[in-house]
Amino acid sequence: MAANNNLQMFQYIKRDTRDFINIDPLQTAGLLTEAARDALIEWGDGYSVCDYCNGALDQVKKPPIQEFVHKALPEFLGTDAARVMNGARESKFAVMHTLAGAAKNKTSNAASNSANKTDAADYVVMDAWAHYSSKVAAERAGLEIVQTEKPEKEIMPEDFQNAIETGIEKYGKKPILTLLTYPDGNYGNLADAKKIAALSHEYEIPILLNGAYSVGRMPVNAKEFGVDYIVGSGHKSMSACGPVGVLGVNGEEAAEQLFRKSAYNKVKEVELLGCTSRGAPIMTLMASFPEVVERTKPDVWEKEVEHARHFVSRLEETGKFKLFGQNPHNHDVMFFEAPGFFNISERAKRGRYFLYDELKERKIHGIKPGLTKNFKMSTYGLSIETIDTVADSFIDILKKYDEI
Ligand SMILES: *Cc1c(COP(=O)(O)O)cnc(C)c1O
Repeated sequence: MAANNNLQMFQYIKRDTRDFINIDPLQTAGLLTEAARDALIEWGDGYSVCDYCNGALDQVKKPPIQEFVHKALPEFLGTDAARVMNGARESKFAVMHTLAGAAKNKTSNAASNSANKTDAADYVVMDAWAHYSSKVAAERAGLEIVQTEKPEKEIMPEDFQNAIETGIEKYGKKPILTLLTYPDGNYGNLADAKKIAALSHEYEIPILLNGAYSVGRMPVNAKEFGVDYIVGSGHKSMSACGPVGVLGVNGEEAAEQLFRKSAYNKVKEVELLGCTSRGAPIMTLMASFPEVVERTKPDVWEKEVEHARHFVSRLEETGKFKLFGQNPHNHDVMFFEAPGFFNISERAKRGRYFLYDELKERKIHGIKPGLTKNFKMSTYGLSIETIDTVADSFIDILKKYDEI
């Protein structure tokens, strides 16, 4: 490839969707608050939070990271201990890698004491809708995966029980962890986390709640659910620029194991590679936190659910849309089937890209280009008026192409 002589092209890149109505589930709850926008500029310089660091990020008093990590965050998550990480996936990997290492040690100790060494791999049991990042985290930690069957609607405790039993049969031992995606990122279905946690504990298996779509959006509390680990995504659901995530753990022993210190440097935590989110990502997470705490109060979240249901009913009224998953719905992430849009795509000039074009013209962003028949979207944070604008736009498009 020839050298690029136009390096200026990288300097200012306009983002054309910035002022659009945003219905992209990935983005709706990651939009910065005013306070976070200010923090982004104030703390945007690299390593900006390290002025007063003595080697452990979570102990920095100025800015008040220590207060955040050791008081506000664990209280918010309902955990004994917490850390700010680089994302939900890094948090899941840290937990899996720790548990995989502990399991390996146990096996090799047992093997040196007796002849019946078990060579079977260690594994994690996950729900059928587990995110790819849960899978690659397990792979990177050297773990195999057993998933539950795909259920009709939501994942049931029995699905987990069956998967655990399948795993025990296949590997001759229990999984080192169960993982529940709460809610799943496609349908926005909320399983009964409390029951699934209790089931996992009946087998004496720790459970991790993947709250990438719940922590920061809705009320979730690890202690109330009885889960051992909880992870959240700052850039997805906590109005932070990211990449940033949160990790909480219950139980003193589990916390000590997870946040074990380096043999070479007594303040550095091994699983965190000594330091995680620094600079603007953690500062925007903290700046948005007061608003995040407010918006996750039950009565505020209830409004979001009402808004989502209002949108569903506007679409269902037309007879041209079908909601998948739990209905009445309990989350802002929604998955629709839209045969009307599909019909149009078969005859429109731009084919299946017509919907993207039509929405862009109406300054609505967030349905993946090329999707028409099935798509997911979110109404998080939108006013009822804006939600009506989106519903009206969908209907206008169907009318424009004589589908209603
Ligand atoms: C987005 C998403 C993730 C990844 O979050 P990161 O913070 O970007 O690692 C994990 N799980 C689910 C269910 C998600 O939707």
